[in-house]
Amino acid sequence: AKERGEGGHQRYRPGMEARGAERNRKAAALRAAMQQEQLVVFFQPVVTLPGGRIIGAEALVRWQHPTEGLIGPGAFIDVAEQTGLIVELGTWVLRSATREAATWPDELKVSVNVSARQLREAGFPAVVAAALRDSGLPAHRLTVEITESVAVGGGATAENLQGLRDLGVRLSLDDFGTGASTLSLLVTCPVNQIKLDRSFVPDGDASDAIADAVVQMARAFEVEAVAEGVETAEQAALLTRLGYERAQGFHFARPMSAALFQEALATELAA
Ligand code: C2E
Ligand code: CA
Ligand code: CA
Ligand code: CA
Repeated sequence: AKERGEGGHQRYRPGMEARGAERNRKAAALRAAMQQEQLVVFFQPVVTLPGGRIIGAEALVRWQHPTEGLIGPGAFIDVAEQTGLIVELGTWVLRSATREAATWPDELKVSVNVSARQLREAGFPAVVAAALRDSGLPAHRLTVEITESVAVGGGATAENLQGLRDLGVRLSLDDFGTGASTLSLLVTCPVNQIKLDRSFVPDGDASDAIADAVVQMARAFEVEAVAEGVETAEQAALLTRLGYERAQGFHFARPMSAALFQEALATELAA
């Protein structure tokens, strides 16, 4: 977060210029990476509980760096947000993910993460509509994942969320349970799905109270519940006992290239 002095001006602090320069350098590198088509979309399976059958996937962006190797979004999403590059990056992810998902079996869904900046911009539903039209993916097979801070964002956010619902796109509340107004958000921002944040996944030692409350809340509001960050068989069993019917996590599969995801689907169909 930026430090602000009186009147909203940034107070000078040593190192601030250096950090600004570092950010500009990173932004320029990311812009070049996009032009050179070094970004790739990985897909992490979403599976049934119990059973582990693939019912869809979440699209997660990666930077295939020529010398550094595969770089995760943690290293560049913030800079993309701060510089506005996220709008172009997000549109690219959306178009790639929908194009890929259109080649999967009909019942499989794809989830795409959308940032606050994208959702604030007037005309975002038209960008989504164009991606659906150009890919041929039916709207109900696309889920847009938003976090609480995205959902309460300003600008055209509220109109855009309604615009997405009107298109027939599904909405999911990501990192559920970590926000301050998570509960009231279910009323003010109707969604189709909530994703239990991985910090609340029970593992036998920690309390399962939040995971339990969230799945019951999901039932009461008639929304799907997905548990994310499931790393062990023990966690999967505990979640199943609580009533979770969908999960995502390293225990089932890591995010993988589009080609490997297709292979995973083929292997499952052959089994
Ligand atoms: P997220 O949306 O909460 O995505 C889930 C993250 O958890 C992914 O990290 C995934 O690799 C990781 N994960 C999945 N299963 C497990 C597990 O069992 N254990 C652990 N420890 N982690 C697991 P990733 O791919 O590094 O993405 C980090 C974040 O970057 C995402 O968090 C999302 O907020 C953001 N992000 C990724 N792709 C995009 C994108 O295309 N657009 C935007 N706006 N944000 C993106
Ligand atoms: Ca997500
Ligand atoms: Ca999440
Ligand atoms: Ca344990």
